[in-house]
Amino acid sequence: MSQPDPDTWRRQVRQWLATVLEPARESESAGADADLAVFHNLPEDEERLLLERCRAYQRARFDAGYQALTLPADKGGAGLTAAHAAVFAQEESAFEVPPSTELISVTVRLVAMAVSLFGTDEQRQEYARAFLRTDLLACQLFSEPGAGSDLAALRTRARQDGDAWVIDGQKVWTSGAQFADYGLLLARTDPDVVKQAGITAFLVPMDAPGVEVRPIRQMSGGASFNEVFLSGVRVPDALRIGRPGQGWEVATTTLAFERTASGSGNRRKGGTFSDVLALARSLGRTGDPLARQLLADLYVRAALREATVERVARTSAAGGRPGPEASLTKLMASELLTRTGQVAAELMGARITADIGEPGTFAWTQHLLGAPGYRLAGGTDQIQRNLIGERVLKLPPEPRTDRAPFSQLPGN
Ligand SMILES: Cc1cc2nc3c(=O)[nH]c(=O)nc-3n(C[C@H](O)[C@H](O)[C@H](O)COP(=O)(O)OP(=O)(O)OC[C@H]3O[C@@H](n4cnc5c(N)ncnc54)[C@H](O)[C@@H]3O)c2cc1C
Repeated sequence: MSQPDPDTWRRQVRQWLATVLEPARESESAGADADLAVFHNLPEDEERLLLERCRAYQRARFDAGYQALTLPADKGGAGLTAAHAAVFAQEESAFEVPPSTELISVTVRLVAMAVSLFGTDEQRQEYARAFLRTDLLACQLFSEPGAGSDLAALRTRARQDGDAWVIDGQKVWTSGAQFADYGLLLARTDPDVVKQAGITAFLVPMDAPGVEVRPIRQMSGGASFNEVFLSGVRVPDALRIGRPGQGWEVATTTLAFERTASGSGNRRKGGTFSDVLALARSLGRTGDPLARQLLADLYVRAALREATVERVARTSAAGGRPGPEASLTKLMASELLTRTGQVAAELMGARITADIGEPGTFAWTQHLLGAPGYRLAGGTDQIQRNLIGERVLKLPPEPRTDRAPFSQLPGN
C-alpha cells in the first residue's frame, strides 16, 4: 500500500488535532500547576472521571483513523510506518492531550495490538476494535509473584474442560485491574514442554466468578496496580488468543509494544524538562552555575531520547511489530524520568521534604517516588540491557539452565 507523503500527512494531523485539543501551554507557564505525578493518587470517582476524559480523546482518535497507526490495515490498523507514528507523537506534543493512565495505555497500545495480531477475525471485530476505541478497557495479567523478569516461569494453570478452560493462580502488579473489563492473561497449559512452549494467552472477563482484585498501595500514595487472584475461573475457548502454546509469542510481542509505548513517551508521565526549568526559574536558580549544569545535562538527555525515538522509528520496518531496539528507548526514557526527579530535588533542597503550601514544589515528591516504578514496569533496566546486549549488539547470550521441560525444572 502506498504511504501518504509525511509532510502532507503531518499537516492533516495538525489540523485534526486542533479540532479536538487546545494548544499546549508555554513552558514558562508550566510547572506550578503541572501534573507531576508519575502514578495518579486519586479517589476512585476522580480516577473514573480522568479515565472518561482519556476515553473521549481515544474515541475521537479512533474515529478519525489515527489509532493503531502502525498496525497493518488487514489487522484493523492504519497500515502506516513507525515514522508516521513518530510524526503523530511530535504533533500531539504541541497540544494539551488529556493526562492518560496506565490502563488506557495497556488497553490501546498493548492488549488491542496483541488481539489484533493474534486474534481471530471475530475476536478482532468484537474485542480489538472495542479496545482500540477504549469502549472496553483491558489490563495485562502477565507478572506473578515468582515470574517477573523470568516471565516464562509463570505458574498460573489453565486446564481444558470441554469447550472452556479453568484457570487457577495469582497475578501481581496488574495496572488498572480494578477498572478493567478484560485481562489479557498468560497461563501454563502444558507443563511437560520447555517453559516458553507450554503457555497460552486468554482474554479473561474481570467480572467472571473466581476473579478477585486487591489493590496494592504504592509509596507515592496511589493504588494504580493490584494483585489478581484466580480460583476456578471458567473462560470459553472462544476467548483463547492465538493457538494453545503460542502464549510466549503473544507475550514477547506485547512486551515489545510495551517498551515502545514506555520509551516513545507521547503520554505525559510526571514532570518534564520544561517543568524543571520552570521550577528553577521560580526558585531564582537559573543564574547558579551548578543549577545550570544540571539543567543543561537534563536538556541534553531529553533531546537524546527524542532523537533516539525518532531514529529507532525511522529504521524499524513497517509491519506492526517493534524490534529489540525498543529496549533502547525504554531504557533512556526510564533513566530520564528518574533523573528529572533527581534534578528537581537537587534544585529544591530541603523544600522537597515538607509541604509548605508553595505551588509546584512538594508536588515533585509525586514524581520522585513514582519514577523508579518505570525502571521496573515492562521489563527492568537490567533486562533491557540484556536485550540490547544480546539482540541489538549480538553479544554472546547469558548462560541458560532451563532447557528441560517446565515440570522437570527445580522447584516444580
Ligand atoms: C509501575 C508498574 C506497573 C506494572 N504493571 C504491570 C501490569 O500491568 N501487568 C503485569 O503483568 N506486570 C506489571 N508490572 C510488573 C513488571 O513487569 C515486573 O515488576 C517486572 O517485570 C520485574 O519483575 P519482578 O518485579 O518480579 O522483579 P524480579 O524479576 O524478581 O527482579 C528483581 C531484580 O533482579 C534483576 N534481574 C532479574 N533477572 C535478571 C537477569 N537475568 N539479569 C540481570 N538482572 C536480573 C531485576 O532487574 C531486578 O532488579 C508492573 C510493574 C511496575 C513497577
